[in-house]
Amino acid sequence: MPELPDITVYLEALEARILGQRLEQIRVSTPFLLRTTQPGPDQFGGRSVVGLRRIGKRIAIGVDGDFWAVLHLMIAGRLHWHPSGGKQPGRNILAVFDFASGALSLTEAGSRKRASLHLVQGEDGLRAMDPGGVDVLSADLSAFASALTATNHTLKRALTDPRLFSGIGNAYSDEILHTAQLSPIAMTQKLKVEEIDRLYVATRASLADWTNRLRTDAGAGFPEKVTAFRKGMAVHGRYGEPCPRCETKVQRIRYADNETNYCPKCQTGGRLLADRGLSRLLKQDWPRTMEQLESLVAAHSGGK
Ligand SMILES: [Zn+2]
Repeated sequence: MPELPDITVYLEALEARILGQRLEQIRVSTPFLLRTTQPGPDQFGGRSVVGLRRIGKRIAIGVDGDFWAVLHLMIAGRLHWHPSGGKQPGRNILAVFDFASGALSLTEAGSRKRASLHLVQGEDGLRAMDPGGVDVLSADLSAFASALTATNHTLKRALTDPRLFSGIGNAYSDEILHTAQLSPIAMTQKLKVEEIDRLYVATRASLADWTNRLRTDAGAGFPEKVTAFRKGMAVHGRYGEPCPRCETKVQRIRYADNETNYCPKCQTGGRLLADRGLSRLLKQDWPRTMEQLESLVAAHSGGK
């Protein structure tokens, strides 16, 4: 799923192409995409783009009159830019935003259609779309620490909870925890002050570094190669491959739909997260979700 670095680079590419441009029309080609009834797509035609914003993992396109089109790409949704006179939108199109200078299309691969479009008006409408997580690039250490420790969760779950932190998902949380050299199943309220400090620095550095890399990759073009699995990632999507820091094989915790990757030497003191007591628990009932894993960890450590 596109996360903060991907969304930021999408927004910059959109700013260069549609900010100040007149939106001719929004064409919605599948009824499941649009999740709101008022305002309708036809109320957006003829209005100029006045702002672009990231709201969590969503992209918000604002036009005159404080009307906003808010896109959530979910896992397989992608944006494409088709300059006018060039190749026009092809297959798997869910929606097209037409401008004089070109067309912005939304596609979604696969059969599970989960991407969404909300059309809203005003700051209240936009706020309703915001899960409320802290923007780590603008938050200071104390705001970061409060969000992190407000409730006792595993680090992996806390970082990916959109109500706590904005725009961080499965891929970049793996990278952040590797940079911070912290275990994905460490409990947030058990962290030492020094560890919270390290996580804060690693979170900002990792997201800023990846945003720069993606920006450089896209160059002047539209970002077309958006994926959760990037060359140069240290652990995410690299199960069984050597950790770039210590060369230990990257390990994983598997769930039904995805997995958490980590280096046992750099992050968990050499411990495989499926060893000893925990593995007895896990063998009987392998967690299907991060939430289930967290309750198993909590039970195993006496609920602390
Ligand atoms: Zn390592």
